[in-house]
Amino acid sequence: MRNISAFLIFGAPGSGKGTVGAKLAATTGVKHLSTGDIFRGLSPASENGKLFASYAGAGKLVPDEVTIQIFSRYIGGLIDTNKFDPAKDSFLLDGIPRTVAQANLIKSVVEIKHIFVLDIPDYSVIVERLLKRAKIENRKDDADESVIRARLKEYEDKTAAVLGAYDSSLITKINGSQSPDEVFRDTLSAYITQRKLPL
Ligand code: AMP
Repeated sequence: MRNISAFLIFGAPGSGKGTVGAKLAATTGVKHLSTGDIFRGLSPASENGKLFASYAGAGKLVPDEVTIQIFSRYIGGLIDTNKFDPAKDSFLLDGIPRTVAQANLIKSVVEIKHIFVLDIPDYSVIVERLLKRAKIENRKDDADESVIRARLKEYEDKTAAVLGAYDSSLITKINGSQSPDEVFRDTLSAYITQRKLPL
């Protein structure tokens, strides 16, 4: 049974998913859920926390089975504590699915309503943004240019293909190279258009 409805915010690392996701959630009430944030919230001493650090530190994706297990458990926790009501709430998923296998693993429970793709063809913009974010958020995986390049390679090799798993009518491309305000404006406008359509 597909009882969870979700929008996706999709794009390369540094494309602005977290920033626009938080703003869209604050404006519309959709629940922003970032798997990167969930992973970073794990206790560093725990098995999964250590596993995450070893993969993220090398710019690699965490294996699919562990990712889906942590993601499902987290959502279960939100439902059990009344923080997410599948009967009326929707998620804005940020950072998942990141592989075609993940898209297949979640599809029996999560119904994707629409996908907002933050498109930044020029990777030099991304590298510059991430190096800047490293200083603000103290993220190790943003601080090292070779790790950033590894993350972009993972995105190209494994994540970009995820879009092919969805019907093109579900996808809206947004110019992610614009200012944060402009990216938010275009994403909000696309979201409103989608909400007006019968879901
Ligand atoms: P993010 O904050 O989305 O850039 O994610 C930071 C790191 O968390 C990534 O480089 C991966 O190591 C890991 N990660 C986040 N989401 C996923 C996912 N869906 N599948 C595998 N690894 C993930």
